[in-house]
Amino acid sequence: MAACAAGLRPDSAVVVVGSCMTDLVSLTSRLPKTGETIHGHKFFIGFGGKGANQCVQAARLGAKTSIVCKVGKDSFGSDYIENLKQNDISTEFMYQTKDASTGAASIIVNSEGQNIIVIVAGANLLLNSDDLRKAADIISRAKVIICQLEISPATSLEALTMARKSGVKTLFNPAPATADLDAQFYTVSDIFCCNESEAENLTGLTINSPAAAGKAGSVLIERGCKVVIITLGAEGCVFVSAEEPGPKLIPTQKVTKPVDTTGAGDSFVGALAFYLAYYPNLPMEEMIKRANLVASVSVQSSGTQTSFPYKKDLPLNLF
Ligand code: ADP
Repeated sequence: MAACAAGLRPDSAVVVVGSCMTDLVSLTSRLPKTGETIHGHKFFIGFGGKGANQCVQAARLGAKTSIVCKVGKDSFGSDYIENLKQNDISTEFMYQTKDASTGAASIIVNSEGQNIIVIVAGANLLLNSDDLRKAADIISRAKVIICQLEISPATSLEALTMARKSGVKTLFNPAPATADLDAQFYTVSDIFCCNESEAENLTGLTINSPAAAGKAGSVLIERGCKVVIITLGAEGCVFVSAEEPGPKLIPTQKVTKPVDTTGAGDSFVGALAFYLAYYPNLPMEEMIKRANLVASVSVQSSGTQTSFPYKKDLPLNLF
């Protein structure tokens, strides 16, 4: 196992400790039922994993980024390292292991852009405390750290805790969510950002309206987060702050015909990290509005990272 040589960037503003997954994507007219085999009309291999996706979106907006992650010593892993380098992300703390395969996600997308996804996390689950210790310097010097739950939850929690101790803003995306999330995640998260199904899993509440999302957000605030954002797809998101009264719905840009919503949440989280790191004085509501807009662009083309916009593709008033 070794850290990969790459452009050393000790001052990365956004550091992601998270996952890399190879996406195996089939496009179909509809989603199959249990036990059913159907024909798809297109197959492609893409780069995914929530950690890498969020890092790529932040980098495409112009953030200096580093990723701390683990892939297998296999062709998917080597291709992934190359992909992140091409996205101008520092891979100094990207590790390769012989002990597991690169994480993989099997994704089916229907003609309405809806998806179902199965994940085998593989090498992602082997990212550990030793790996974090080697990356301690870049973590402590970041402006923002992002973590998710596609690596071992203990590693995510340790990374967030390290960052918090150094005064780094912590952005936690509890995805995929489990009902038994360690309570420390709430207190170590400056910003706790999840989608509606994750918020349902975490709170046990049904979310069928922005008002219901607001209630779930308030429950999560009571558990210790400073800010909770629950994304609601085409409706935008609900924002709840421990310091401001009441939940707020922050609508997104209307998209008449979304092409593929896979990764929209990652585009949102990556964009939010960019604004937190580079525009820390903007009101949170304005950061969320801008992140909504970036994510709404991502649903207008297919794939995950392939659909994430670059700074040059976006209106100037977002910067
Ligand atoms: P996830 O991908 O985690 O399920 P969401 O579907 O809630 O996340 O989407 C995240 C963000 O992407 C939303 O808050 C919104 O800004 C944007 N978005 C998602 N779907 C659409 C859509 N159909 N039209 C416009 N924006 C969208």
